[in-house]
Amino acid sequence: MKFYKMQCPSCGANLEVENELDSFFCKYCGTKIYVTEQDPEIIKAKTSIKLAKEKAELEKVKLQQELDIKKVKLQQELDIKKQENKDGTTIGLLIIGIIFLMYLFIYLLIQSI
Ligand SMILES: [Zn+2]
Repeated sequence: MKFYKMQCPSCGANLEVENELDSFFCKYCGTKIYVTEQDPEIIKAKTSIKLAKEKAELEKVKLQQELDIKKVKLQQELDIKKQENKDGTTIGLLIIGIIFLMYLFIYLLIQSI
């Protein structure tokens, strides 16, 4: 947390203001003071905070997008693997079927003799 120096417009006391505050009470005279954003230091500070927040927000969105892309890619890879497994199973069943038919054929051949 950062503080900025400003003067109380009522009693002239030097005050330290938290840069996030829009209004506060003078600790010497109790006057409510509005931070009018006329203090260039405060404006600058607020702007940089806003920019940092926006940047962080952008970074978050970017990371979220990257994560989404990675998720989609992972899903696609999983789908491909599933498809490959399915193909493997199909080929396996086909081979078993052929072997079974061959045995059947040989059996029938032997029986007919
Ligand atoms: Zn004051």
